[in-house]
Amino acid sequence: MLDNTGPRLPAPSISASSLVVPSNLLACTVAGLRVRSEGWRESACIWGGTREGRVTNVAFHHELGDDRATALSLELPEDAKFALYKQLAARQEVLLAMLHTHPEDWVGLSWIDAQNQLCSRIGFWSIVLPFYGAKEWKEAEIGFHIRCDRGWQQIQGETLRKLFRIEVVQK
Ligand SMILES: [Zn+2]
Repeated sequence: MLDNTGPRLPAPSISASSLVVPSNLLACTVAGLRVRSEGWRESACIWGGTREGRVTNVAFHHELGDDRATALSLELPEDAKFALYKQLAARQEVLLAMLHTHPEDWVGLSWIDAQNQLCSRIGFWSIVLPFYGAKEWKEAEIGFHIRCDRGWQQIQGETLRKLFRIEVVQK
């Protein structure tokens, strides 16, 4: 029987939603999405990492799923989801963010994007890159969304600077 007398779960703190991405993983992410989009279709990948929000792993959609992605179809098949969860469990990682590309400069979440996420945990990030990832990474042009208790919230400016950090890694 569930014990309802215990302390309630704490509200998600800012640190639970923050993302720290090493610069080499970011570069790999952008290059991978760009190549995969080939200038004509959406592509996606997943960032896995520690519960503290440090990105340690990037998994591309096409490496997880089959190669039948079309311009607007990004949903992972069930077996790919299963493989992803297995991989995360083996590495003791959690899903931190999903990233995908859009054709033009609009980086909001479409209705389908909002429904079609791998993870609806509060604090999960959904990041949208414009122009099929063809341009260099500029935070002001990228859509950052965080899952809240009532859907998705786009963050920018000061809040974004507090929550999102690129960690420079020497090659
Ligand atoms: Zn989208």
